Amino acid sequence: MYTVLKNASYLDVRSGTYHTDRSIIIKGDKIEKIADASAADGMSDANIIDCTGLHLLPGLIDAHVHTTAITPDFAELEISSPFYVAIKSTEILSGMLQRGFTTVRDAGGADYGLAAATLENPAMGPEILFCGKALSQTGGHGDVRTKGRREFEGCFCCAGLGVVVDGVTEVRRAARDEIRKGATQIKIMASGGVSSPTDRIDSTQFSIEEIRAIVAEAEAANIYCMAHAYTARAIKRLLQNGVRTIEHGNLLDEECCDLFVETGAYLVPTLITYQALANEGVASGLPASMEEKIYMVLEAGNVALKMAYDKGVKMLYGSDLLGTMQRHQLQEFSIRSKVVSNIDLIRQATVNAAECFDRVGSIGEILEGGLANIIAYQNDPLEDINVLVNPEESLQLIINRGVTVKHLVTADQNA
Ligand code: ZN
Ligand code: ZN
Repeated sequence: MYTVLKNASYLDVRSGTYHTDRSIIIKGDKIEKIADASAADGMSDANIIDCTGLHLLPGLIDAHVHTTAITPDFAELEISSPFYVAIKSTEILSGMLQRGFTTVRDAGGADYGLAAATLENPAMGPEILFCGKALSQTGGHGDVRTKGRREFEGCFCCAGLGVVVDGVTEVRRAARDEIRKGATQIKIMASGGVSSPTDRIDSTQFSIEEIRAIVAEAEAANIYCMAHAYTARAIKRLLQNGVRTIEHGNLLDEECCDLFVETGAYLVPTLITYQALANEGVASGLPASMEEKIYMVLEAGNVALKMAYDKGVKMLYGSDLLGTMQRHQLQEFSIRSKVVSNIDLIRQATVNAAECFDRVGSIGEILEGGLANIIAYQNDPLEDINVLVNPEESLQLIINRGVTVKHLVTADQNA
């Protein structure tokens, strides 16, 4: 059975222009053909969706989410029932899909099981690119123990976000184990963080030898590393050693920007999460002792975004929201729009991510042979990026891997 999107105008995210009066012919989970408007005429037995008046975009890609982070308290998460966490994660995943995200990259927590579930049922949520557990050193960003605790609970069945490993042998074994379980990228906790109880924002984490070993294991499996890092010092030692994406990067400097450009690495700012944590973090379950750290990175993040954009650093869309704050996922668009042009913002959330994830031709663009991941709005997000931010009203159509998840019939189409 075919689905045909007729009278379709879709955004070519590379050129920044719309192709108009097209028929997009979908078979199974892929776009089989893009033809002129009349191609739909002879296909009376197909499921025809009239797209008159709509602006079609490729499904959005969020490069930094935590699909299992049902609370910002990671110590609590680790001792939660994995069944409970999985069930609650389905709500998080469904929310992401309803916001227009058809691909998300999980930065710690999701595994092959959760990823398989949304591939088997695309109406349930976006495709998940997963790293399994994030690798952390003792006392690092993935170590959820408070000072008084000695035991680390983390094990396969636990729903925590990270695993604690030290030394080249242990990090290699952990990276290989995530690769064994199908990871699409390896996550390194390479500096202090907000939601970890004992580390300092300005610390670097893991030795150069450990970082090199993890990157080498990822490269051996033809995947890559993403790394959590805030300061210029932490970022430089990652870029110099082959890490492909830097998460957050709030305290980067000009020299870092040059290194990004030189190495072709990507920056994944996640500004919305600091704003959300500042506004409602503690109310959402963040331990109050961690609140102070938010302000160390909140303001700097906006400065970093502008510096990186002006320097031509390649960027991806990231939200990094936790618990009930995940509902703000689209507001990263509003924050970045003060610095980044609308078309570049859309590229950050589509084709840039496809390139970074080695998925060009499959996601991030509306293309023949690509996955049928398509969303549509009545108003043009190129003119006003906030069209993307209120999806309940503005998002008319969501197709994920060929499955129509949402379709509102507009007045235009009834006429
Ligand atoms: Zn992080
Ligand atoms: Zn994160």
